[in-house]
Amino acid sequence: MNERMLFRQTRWRLATWYAGVMGIILTLSGFGVYEAIDHAHRTAADRELQGIAGRLHDNIEPMLKQPGELPTSTQRFFPEFCMSPAPCITSTRAADHAPGEMFQGNYYIRLLDTSQELIALAGLKPIGLESSSSTTAWQYLQDEDNIRYRQITIPLQNPDAPLWGYLQVGSSLKHSDQYLSSVKLILFAGLPLALVFVGVAGWWLAGRAMRPIHQSYQQMQQFTADAAHELRTPIAAAQATVESVLDMPQLSAAEVRETLQTLDRQHQRLSQLIQDLLLLTRLDRQGQLKQNVSCCLQDLVSDIAEELAALALNKKIQLQTDVQVDQPLWVSGDEAQLYRLVFNLVINAIQYTPEAGKVTLALCQQDQQAVIQVQDTGVGIVPEYQAKIFDRFYRVDCDRNRQTGGSGLGLAIAQAIAQKHQGRITVQSQPSKGSSFTVHLPIPFP
Ligand code: ADP
Repeated sequence: MNERMLFRQTRWRLATWYAGVMGIILTLSGFGVYEAIDHAHRTAADRELQGIAGRLHDNIEPMLKQPGELPTSTQRFFPEFCMSPAPCITSTRAADHAPGEMFQGNYYIRLLDTSQELIALAGLKPIGLESSSSTTAWQYLQDEDNIRYRQITIPLQNPDAPLWGYLQVGSSLKHSDQYLSSVKLILFAGLPLALVFVGVAGWWLAGRAMRPIHQSYQQMQQFTADAAHELRTPIAAAQATVESVLDMPQLSAAEVRETLQTLDRQHQRLSQLIQDLLLLTRLDRQGQLKQNVSCCLQDLVSDIAEELAALALNKKIQLQTDVQVDQPLWVSGDEAQLYRLVFNLVINAIQYTPEAGKVTLALCQQDQQAVIQVQDTGVGIVPEYQAKIFDRFYRVDCDRNRQTGGSGLGLAIAQAIAQKHQGRITVQSQPSKGSSFTVHLPIPFP
């Protein structure tokens, strides 16, 4: 599978998973919201119904004497009351204690005798209401038009008399059911719409999340290709040298020596490259550095200047040090790695500075940081390449650098070491005037 397909497929998979998980979460949340609204409605309606039924019960019950007979005194509680089998009574007089809301169209009151025969009815008159049981306190009933009712049944019993009958108060759930149906509709219709948005957002987010992975994948591919290319060059050169020598019928001692020297050069280049690659891999893998190991930067600077003095002299370059601190400057970290960091910068400065040039290796302290500066009067670096020179195998001018023997890993190694020591490297350069590489390293105990 090619790279484009692989990343596209992974992005699809991530977006689908994201939409799926979000879909489940949204469905469960929608279900929860619906249940919460439904429960709140039911609880409020039941509480109201219970309040009305309780008040009616308390007012009517003391007046009831003969089971199944409704004293006329009870009728004052109801502005409208239908006696069964007598016709409905219509009164304009406001009831003393009857709750007014009962007759605003939402409630009905029924009085039943002990054999559950209807004696009186007030308020709503639902048609074809299912028969109800007088023994069940709370019930849901349905009328002919499929309108649901919530009903409470309370037995009526004067303490001095036997059971009189039952009081039933019911309320229509028409409005509440309509409201809940519209909530259900909104949730059902909104879910697919929300899933479309989640899908689009998932696709976009997956793309964003995969961008750095894609970049490092491409860098890895580039690194593998560059490493293979760099390794192949000395091997191919060595093979060509061997083949040309084998084709010669006879070899003089001088020719044998020259051939061996060429092979040795290729071998050294190859082993240097392998060492650099291994060091980079180690730096990539290495966790936090042991902070108890310390390194004195004055010693490091003077050792490097001493080691490279001969090379500088050979190139007729003036190599000088400028140490601006009196006290020994200690930093935590790996001494060999820090040595390699500064060594790479100084050797580059010597390599990219023409004859009669000058390279300065300076050391100073700025606040809580040790600052090492490698300054040269060399060829300089064009601004557009300055950010790239720290990339692995990157060389500004391949032909020129191949002659100097550089593989393009020197600055990548230097930067990796600086970062491992919680430091950083910056570069300032002007083409044809020179470059200045500055390393900042934290001082643990300033
Ligand atoms: P190389 O092994 O090729 O020197 P580096 O990683 O050390 O690789 O450097 C990367 C590139 O940065 C070099 O190829 C060179 O073009 C440029 N460079 C590094 N140091 C200097 C310098 N002091 N002056 C000019 N160019 C430099």
